[in-house]
Amino acid sequence: MAIRESILKVRETIHQTCARIGRNPGEISLMGVSKFHSPGELSEAWEGGIRLFGENRVQEASGKFPPFIQTHPGTELHLIGSLQRNKVKPALSLFDCIESVDRESLILELGKITSEREIPARILLELHTGEESKSGFPGLDQLFKGVELILQFPQLKIEGLMTMAPYTTDEELIRRSFRTLVQAQQEAQRRFPDCGWFCLSMGMSNDFKIAIEEGSTLLRIGTAIFGERRL
Ligand SMILES: *Cc1c(COP(=O)(O)O)cnc(C)c1O
Repeated sequence: MAIRESILKVRETIHQTCARIGRNPGEISLMGVSKFHSPGELSEAWEGGIRLFGENRVQEASGKFPPFIQTHPGTELHLIGSLQRNKVKPALSLFDCIESVDRESLILELGKITSEREIPARILLELHTGEESKSGFPGLDQLFKGVELILQFPQLKIEGLMTMAPYTTDEELIRRSFRTLVQAQQEAQRRFPDCGWFCLSMGMSNDFKIAIEEGSTLLRIGTAIFGERRL
């Protein structure tokens, strides 16, 4: 299916799901996850109305996005994959938000590199909620220790939480994963009311309806928009 049609279909599903459960679709952002896809495909997605893109590798995005952003002003780009400490500097100059902040050593590096910035760097904290790979803070204790560390760096601005549900057809497992993130958000709001916790980045091509039902505010959709990735 063409990218524009796929986007329409995804948007329609978002609207239908929201209508069914009484949510306002305006509170849900749609990200096009463009890893492994070409600049031509990025442009198609842009023409289909996508302004927010996600990439999971600094190196790939560094090649593809600077020229694209030049010709498509208003593009917003998030890093959603694991970030190595030695890539923090290029990542901060390219991405508008780092969604995959998941350990103290990374926070220290982010804090160091952003210390001279005028505008704070936007970040989300990634929580491991059951997905197979081990990305994300393993639990709430580690997550909140991370928040305490971030608070020492005024140039780091927390905007919320991110997670990946396990890749499975078991809806209950997926739902449990998303609920874990919502509970973490509620607890974070209670403990750190001065930080922004408004963003809940959860939901991918195979599970975004469930994510909407559980309160997602940011859907990260790759395959359902761009088709299968050519690895
Ligand atoms: C690849 C990726 C996505 C999109 O996955 P699809 O199943 O293709 O929609 C979302 N989030 C992260 C972190 C990813 O790496």
